Amino acid sequence: MQRSVTSSSPSPSPAPVHLVAGASSGIGAAVAAQAVASGARVAVCGRRGDVLRKVAEGCGATAYVADVTDRAQVEELVAAVVRDHGRLDGVVANAGVMRPGGVLDLTDEDWDATLRTNLTSVFFLARAALPHLINSKGSFVTVGSIAGLRASGGMSAYAASKAGAAMLTATLAAEFGPRGVRANTVCPGWTRTEMADEEMREFGGPLGLGVDESYAEVTTLVPQRRPAEPHEIADAVLWLLGPHSSYVNGTTLTADGGTTMVDPGAVPFDFRLSER
Ligand code: NDP
Repeated sequence: MQRSVTSSSPSPSPAPVHLVAGASSGIGAAVAAQAVASGARVAVCGRRGDVLRKVAEGCGATAYVADVTDRAQVEELVAAVVRDHGRLDGVVANAGVMRPGGVLDLTDEDWDATLRTNLTSVFFLARAALPHLINSKGSFVTVGSIAGLRASGGMSAYAASKAGAAMLTATLAAEFGPRGVRANTVCPGWTRTEMADEEMREFGGPLGLGVDESYAEVTTLVPQRRPAEPHEIADAVLWLLGPHSSYVNGTTLTADGGTTMVDPGAVPFDFRLSER
């Protein structure tokens, strides 16, 4: 007698639903594409509706135009994703802006915009999503930066916002780990995206360097001697989002080609400097 496979098999678990905030370009767009490819249902958010919709159509995600600096819009966003998809298993807090400048250069508006986009939005997203992530025993991943781990000049607001975002995420891990939620931060180094291209133009323009030459220059002492591609950062995010990192909680994972490993005191011994 033939057994009915359908009746004796457990019902397949539903595809996870992930929300990627800040996915109109760069790392967020790569995360969305790779999450869809992994079998997840993916909601993407950003402010530029036309650009965001192209990304969503290109990879098979659903677009939600929202500004993550606005509490009400974030609450509506999360509610809409859960209403449309029935659940929420993963959130990627990736939206970010970079306003370069030290304390004497930054305006109040630079400071507020940076903190609100890079840090306060993580708080808004976490607060709106946590009830759903507790239900699904889900995962929260923040895209921080190595600028939040190591100090440098000319990045006061950005570095402070990224350090704060990583610590806020660690507090989620401590507080909601007992309820089954994991929370981790990925800290990229230089990654070829719209944001970093703009930085390269600002850095290299006055020196007469093109964007590629500028990337080469700023990665001169990076052990891998190149910037990351967005998909390489997305791989780290996807790992933290999914089941293969099931006992990883509260960590900051650098994806920086070894940048933060380098000992500044040994930099003068680097052969590439000695060639100069
Ligand atoms: P991009 O500029 O390509 O992407 C930034 C994304 O954030 C865009 O999709 C943008 O979409 C979205 N965004 C910005 N502000 C808001 C907002 N208020 N509401 C909703 N979405 C918003 O840069 P990256 O891909 O490089 O940046 C992604 C993350 O990676 C950022 O957090 C950045 O700080 C971090 N990072 C990047 C590094 C790099 O070298 N590229 C290095 C280290 C960290 P839209 O404009 O449509 O709103």
